[in-house]
Amino acid sequence: MRSRFEYFRPRSLDEALGFLAAHGPRTSVMAGGTDLMILIRRGDVAGKFVMDISRLDELRGVGKIDNVISLGAAVTYTEIVNDKIVKEFAPALVEAAGQVGSVQIRNVGTPGGNAANASPAADSVPPILVHNGRVIIRSAFSERIEPLQDLIVGPYRTNLKPEELITGFLLEAIDGTYRYSFERIARRKALAVARINAAALARLDSAGVVEDLRLSVGSITPQPARMTAAENHLIGRRPNMAAIREAAEKVTREMIRRSGIRSSTEYKKPAVEGLVTKALTRILI
Ligand SMILES: Cc1cc2nc3c(=O)[nH]c(=O)nc-3n(C[C@H](O)[C@H](O)[C@H](O)COP(=O)(O)OP(=O)(O)OC[C@H]3O[C@@H](n4cnc5c(N)ncnc54)[C@H](O)[C@@H]3O)c2cc1C
Repeated sequence: MRSRFEYFRPRSLDEALGFLAAHGPRTSVMAGGTDLMILIRRGDVAGKFVMDISRLDELRGVGKIDNVISLGAAVTYTEIVNDKIVKEFAPALVEAAGQVGSVQIRNVGTPGGNAANASPAADSVPPILVHNGRVIIRSAFSERIEPLQDLIVGPYRTNLKPEELITGFLLEAIDGTYRYSFERIARRKALAVARINAAALARLDSAGVVEDLRLSVGSITPQPARMTAAENHLIGRRPNMAAIREAAEKVTREMIRRSGIRSSTEYKKPAVEGLVTKALTRILI
């Protein structure tokens, strides 16, 4: 069957942004295509053009200036897993990237596509949030940089305009004094998309008191978020299992406050508390 879409591969970011300025509402941006191809096959995408950004050099680099890591939107998970800068300064993202899908998915899938697709279970989102991650969004006429949690306005919904492209992310680098963890519960091991995931970073002082703690849990709130009540419960304390479990309960209280009680709550509450307890125990005990 002949495709309804015309394929376009820009040679530069300027050309890509120019194309979106002219044809944005009728164009689907494609990075790795691992989400987009499914949407197209299901008939969920209306439009005329597919614009392939996967080879744009401007979206493919990783760099670091002072304590800010810049990550191109079209860097693949495999590249993240192998990148020296991300490994050293954002290791929770490396752990998450290493667990996405399969080798085939990791070889082409990108955090830019993950964020733009805005699945509540997106695996790269919680690790970017614990690095106070910001997203760089460009059009032919403007550039805005905003916290990643502001880009995603609800499940599978972002504030991206048709003429806009995510060009990259800015992450706060951590040093070797931080511990990190990324945990997820997936339906089954191979090729499974996570049902719930959690990323956490912590720094303890020489007396074992928590100086800094950052926690983000995916799939439990309509918009991605940091779990500040749980973070604040443990900061300033020497952590023990009881305090960690109390923090995990604060996470599920936040889940219910933001998402309400649903049919899944009965299963989700112990699952989230177990996952958060595991993620925090790994870095605090
Ligand atoms: C078998 C399988 C397993 C999977 N496992 C996981 C998993 O374990 N964890 C997980 O999180 N996800 C998983 N996914 C989902 C998917 O692989 C990820 O969401 C991936 O990060 C999407 O990236 P991509 O580059 O392929 O995006 P694409 O499919 O190219 O694009 C996704 C969406 O984002 C838009 N988009 C892409 N890049 C940009 C950009 N730079 N600016 C603006 N819009 C853009 C596209 O228009 C499209 O709407 C899985 C998918 C499959 C098919």
